[in-house]
Amino acid sequence: MRDSRFHTVIEPFRIHSIEPVRLISRSERQARLDEAGWNLFALHGDDVLIDLLTDSGTGALSNEQWAAIQRGNEGYAGSPSWFRFRDAVHELFPFKHVIPTHQGRAAEKILFGVVGGSGKVIPNNTHFDTTRAHVEFSGAEGVDLVVPEGLDPRNRHPFKGNVDIPALSRLLASRAEDVPLVMVTITNNSGGGQPVSLANLRAVRELCDEYDKPLFLDACRFAENAWFIKTREPGYVNVAVADIVREMAALADGMTMSAKKDPLANIGGWLAMNDDALASECRNLAILTEGFPTYGGLAGRDLDAIAVGLRESVDEDYLRYRIASTAYLGEGLERAGVPVVVPFGGHAIFIDARELLPHLPALQYPGHALACALYVEGGIRSCEIGTVMFGMGADGVERPAPMDLVRLAIPRRTYTHNHLDYVIEVVTYVARNSDQIAGLEIVEQPERLRHFSARFAPLRKVETAA
Ligand SMILES: *Cc1c(COP(=O)(O)O)cnc(C)c1O
Repeated sequence: MRDSRFHTVIEPFRIHSIEPVRLISRSERQARLDEAGWNLFALHGDDVLIDLLTDSGTGALSNEQWAAIQRGNEGYAGSPSWFRFRDAVHELFPFKHVIPTHQGRAAEKILFGVVGGSGKVIPNNTHFDTTRAHVEFSGAEGVDLVVPEGLDPRNRHPFKGNVDIPALSRLLASRAEDVPLVMVTITNNSGGGQPVSLANLRAVRELCDEYDKPLFLDACRFAENAWFIKTREPGYVNVAVADIVREMAALADGMTMSAKKDPLANIGGWLAMNDDALASECRNLAILTEGFPTYGGLAGRDLDAIAVGLRESVDEDYLRYRIASTAYLGEGLERAGVPVVVPFGGHAIFIDARELLPHLPALQYPGHALACALYVEGGIRSCEIGTVMFGMGADGVERPAPMDLVRLAIPRRTYTHNHLDYVIEVVTYVARNSDQIAGLEIVEQPERLRHFSARFAPLRKVETAA
């Protein structure tokens, strides 16, 4: 598909069915946000023009996926859809046991329900929010051991998702018996969608072997991670993405997965592993909450959509476009002087809100305040990844998160470059007027995962005129 004479990276598809979006006025958006308690998760989706809240389950299906959905078989046990799903998983991730789940967090709940518990500690490069929540819900402790470069938004290290090997080695040396498994998140979503190199995964594997610990991948963005390995890691430029994925899988003993990410589906996930005894315990728990182990909370048609999506996810024309369009947004913002995390991640561009809003202390939630401003000014919904999401400790004490970022996550195959041009224009406008943005306080919050349902109030009156 690539012609070296032309450099424009195009969407490698035509639009096949459309979904209209609508623009309400600035004052209406201000009113909707007030009603929503200044929480963007509480908005009605129709009041959002461009929805960059998440890339999770929000992508467009291909014509082949819709065709596969028609072939879905809804048999309760042993459905042909299950076998197609299992075979597609095995093509890339040949783990002996595959347990389907309704989404990624269900796989996490089952896994940590078995291996977690008080006194245990689970290392990861950076635990995703639901992963950390399930680790902590089990009574265990989640420890983030990303390389120091991963915490510096300006550092252009090519693999900022890498695990800090000396730190992991120290943890294993001091608490090996408390560590039931080591996790690595590819790409490192909460750390800016940054990739992990194969060299780093191999080093983690060696430590796991030394201490006889299983290595599990949180593999939600495995295809984007593999693309970064292909384009950045010496020796991989001529290796097929699917082979790189298999090489990552071969280093691990199991995985948790959300099919709502790189597998290009709208729902689904799985838990996979080689260990028979662990698999049998996990399967028993899965039956309690997800259903029989050949459907795992999914319809047969969902399993078929995932099977086709998995094969499409390693298509290199798709991945080239995917990574180029994310970079297009990042480059546009960088040109406008907006502080963004570099290098650009796979699925999202992250704005450094702490740097953009130096007048707001972390406990006035600069990331959340910026996300609200992007909605009010331009109808764009984004997501804070910062002190609202991670600031509440398991001890009930609130502390600044390592970074206050705003994530502009890009749904797969959904928005055009014109949509991204509009986003660049709105973010640039908001950034130029960022000294006007007020901090917020939390007026109501749940015990866990507070970002989904907390209610906020601005710390000073915000004018509502357009
Ligand atoms: C989305 C995600 C999860 C959880 O998956 P869900 O399908 O949303 O439950 C876990 N880890 C990472 C890295 C993710 O991006």
